[in-house]
Amino acid sequence: MSASSGSNGARQQVFVLVGGTGDLAMRMLWPSLAMLDQEGFLADNLRIISVAREDCGTEVCVDRIGNAVTSRFGQWTTPEALSRFRKRIVHVALDAAHDDWGSKLKAELGDVEHLDIVFFLSVSPSLFKPICEHIERAGLNKAPNRVIIEKPIGRDLATSKVINDSVAHAFAEDRTFRIDHYLGKETVQNLIALRFGNMVFEPLWNSQSIDHIQITIAETVGVADRLGYYDEYGAIRDMLQNHLLQLLCLLAMEPPSALTSDALRDEKVKVLRSLKAITAENVLTNTARGQYGPGFADGHPVAGYEAEKGSPSNTETFVAIKAEIANWRWAGTPIYMRTGKCLPSRTTEIVIQFKPLPHSIFGPEAQANRLLIRLQPEEDISLTLMNKAPGLTSEGVHLQPLDLSLSLIKAFDDSKDGKPPRRRIAYERLILDALNGNNAQFVRRDEVEAAWTWVDGIIKAWHEKDMKPQKYPAGTFGPVSAFSLIERDNGRMWND
Ligand code: NAD
Repeated sequence: MSASSGSNGARQQVFVLVGGTGDLAMRMLWPSLAMLDQEGFLADNLRIISVAREDCGTEVCVDRIGNAVTSRFGQWTTPEALSRFRKRIVHVALDAAHDDWGSKLKAELGDVEHLDIVFFLSVSPSLFKPICEHIERAGLNKAPNRVIIEKPIGRDLATSKVINDSVAHAFAEDRTFRIDHYLGKETVQNLIALRFGNMVFEPLWNSQSIDHIQITIAETVGVADRLGYYDEYGAIRDMLQNHLLQLLCLLAMEPPSALTSDALRDEKVKVLRSLKAITAENVLTNTARGQYGPGFADGHPVAGYEAEKGSPSNTETFVAIKAEIANWRWAGTPIYMRTGKCLPSRTTEIVIQFKPLPHSIFGPEAQANRLLIRLQPEEDISLTLMNKAPGLTSEGVHLQPLDLSLSLIKAFDDSKDGKPPRRRIAYERLILDALNGNNAQFVRRDEVEAAWTWVDGIIKAWHEKDMKPQKYPAGTFGPVSAFSLIERDNGRMWND
């Protein structure tokens, strides 16, 4: 299939962006679509319909979209490409509260029997149900039409089921694309290539050779204008249930038999189901909850979460968990995961810490190997190996650690005309896959439910133990209890 043919070559493709005037759409989705267009990935006759409550008209909407694209990718867009992109777009003002939502959209779409429609619901999840009902009533849900939905998919297992049921009423599972934008990141996709495209790692990828795994997603920003949403969710629901656990799945899963969506997702869900339950008996030693207090982060003084909210709160802005996967490959290998806001640096990193040598002929100089997979701020993979320190010494051979580095940005440097290389938005890959009907990098319902089952158990244990978040000064790596998680095992997070 050519890059621009789409999955249903005979039908005209229409991308319906519901919530087209919103923050996510302007920052991520429109720039992604524009770059897909510029790079020739959109079929020539693909139309894009922006649907939102605002009655701003197509001209104003398209101007705003143009500004959003140039503010993100001004260096890399050309006026011709942007002008062609703008011509694809029509804005339709429709309020989900009104019964004529579906019929009006249908009138705009035209001959729906010959269309291949991809809906992207970039709206609050509370609107998924009414919008899916509108789509269904108007008969716009028939195959091959499909729907993309965004997190949060619920705030626990029960509410995720309600959301998934309401979407499932209109769209079959294989036509429901649940985005976890981490899965669209180049380095995250590279995890699959690294693990299953090389022979060298697999024999060592287990508890015999790996001492422990660390996964960190650190943000320097606070909750800012998302406080209303965030206070209901906290770090465990907002970040750990989805992004951190998806990274863990890709790291820990068994080799799939093929790169097909079900083969991949079958293996991922097995990891989630194998996570050892955290209960009231072990929650105090296996988890840490924190909330940022006054301090200095992201280059600014921070008043603290409760001061920003203006009232007391038990919502955690930081969570760290020592997890274990109860299967033959991983039993006994701790996995330390942490994420939080107002931390000292904006980093997403995975550390695979190998075990020390069983017997070192070099004495304590021989450090254990470490594989560092960095997703942010730069995408980079490096393997620390021990080398002989160059030169002569009277004591003989000395060792020094040396990083074997694969800087992705340098390795695949596509900079042209003196411009720096363009960093893709994760949504570019995911929107392209959805247009092509490939849902391998989207989250299946059973994955969402298995992740919630595990996370619900932790939250229940927190309540049973009355475990409130501990304060940490903004600009530090979380509360003291987070450091103890790994220090109790005689380790430390590699960059603390
Ligand atoms: P937003 O509030 O900025 O935009 C919401 C959009 O929905 C607007 O276009 C608005 O017109 C439309 N809308 C609202 N009520 C409507 C109604 N009754 N009928 C029709 N349209 C209506 O929200 P956002 O920040 O863009 O977030 C959209 C979704 O993406 C949410 O589910 C959010 O949780 C999720 N999300 C957002 C971000 C982000 O960075 N903004 C990140 C991850 C997930």
